[in-house]
Amino acid sequence: MTMHPMTLLAHDEPNPWMSVTPPIVQSSLFTFATVEEMEQRFAGNGNQPIYSRGDNPTVQLFEQKVAELEGGEAARAFSSGMGAISGAILSLVKAGDRMVCVRDVYPDAYRFMQKLLSRLNVTVEYVDGSNTEAVIERLDGAAVLYLESPTSWTMRTQDLPRLAAAARQRGVVTLCDNSWATPLYQQPLNAGIDLVVHSASKYLSGHSDTVAGIVVGSQARIDAINDLAYPYLGAKLSPWEAWLLLRGMRTLPQRVATQRRSVGMLSRRLREHPDVASVLHPTLGSDSHTPAEEGGSPFTIALQPWIDPRKFCNALHWFKLGVSWGGYESLVIPSIVSLAQAASVANALIDFDVPTNLVRLHVGLEHVEDLWQDLAQAFTHAKVETP
Ligand SMILES: *Cc1c(COP(=O)(O)O)cnc(C)c1O
Repeated sequence: MTMHPMTLLAHDEPNPWMSVTPPIVQSSLFTFATVEEMEQRFAGNGNQPIYSRGDNPTVQLFEQKVAELEGGEAARAFSSGMGAISGAILSLVKAGDRMVCVRDVYPDAYRFMQKLLSRLNVTVEYVDGSNTEAVIERLDGAAVLYLESPTSWTMRTQDLPRLAAAARQRGVVTLCDNSWATPLYQQPLNAGIDLVVHSASKYLSGHSDTVAGIVVGSQARIDAINDLAYPYLGAKLSPWEAWLLLRGMRTLPQRVATQRRSVGMLSRRLREHPDVASVLHPTLGSDSHTPAEEGGSPFTIALQPWIDPRKFCNALHWFKLGVSWGGYESLVIPSIVSLAQAASVANALIDFDVPTNLVRLHVGLEHVEDLWQDLAQAFTHAKVETP
């Protein structure tokens, strides 16, 4: 039975206690009545859980729900988005392989590729993902194409159906980070992408109380992750956090719709604000492949030279200074902080030429007019002092 995501998220499968919320099966292991039953299960028959680094019923509920939302056959949850990204990639590459990846990819995904994959003799080529032809040109002979639409900070989208088709023709496996759009607004698997990865810490959680990740794809691709990466990396999700995610996801459609409406209003006003040089947002860029009304968060503003990003961010009240996004609270981070990050080796912002006048805003669930007032007053406090 097909159903709307709102209905899917409002209900769970019945459980033995008929509790309306799913049980948190907080158990490391599961017992068997006889040696014969245990042997049967170890031989691969039945689906009783054995150990919570393998399967846990609460985590499985979360996996099933995200798989359904993304239109995938199966999913594997991880203890973080980076666990999901590294686990998925490590199930696909071997020494000597070449990957193609979009420029402006999430900074820790970039560090993983530059610092760890390079040691395994896997090379990565970074291409402007908004230039479809340029990406396709690099695909021959590559093992993996890694996409993130839109990209971090620069918010550049990719033409997923065309890239997926071109990659498939050439035997290149495609992955797409879909944390920003959520499966409600972009379904990479339906566009032909092989694997979707999420930082579930963001919108799927929605309450800034969990760090988690998930990979979704065909049964065969998830089997490969289970065979080659997941059990040995050990980055498993805890039952309690899976439960928090299931709880957070109940309101995913309502939260994201509200946040998108606010983003639409704020980004339009910011585009017209004299202190803003430009707004980097998938709905506003000329390279956009997303429908105009589908505006999401976070997005980035480029400040005019007479606005000091440090003063601007310090003057904000409702937009709290912090990393991450996707929760109920508004957040801000200036690019100067990430550019100055101590581990400047493989710093994506430096290597991809992100300028110093950018400020990334995540719009939470506060009233949009309060947020607008906050931004407007911060501009008045942020003028560069002229001697
Ligand atoms: C936060 C983030 C990640 C990493 O997720 P964690 O849960 O923090 O490990 C990956 N991709 C994107 C786009 C992100 O914003």
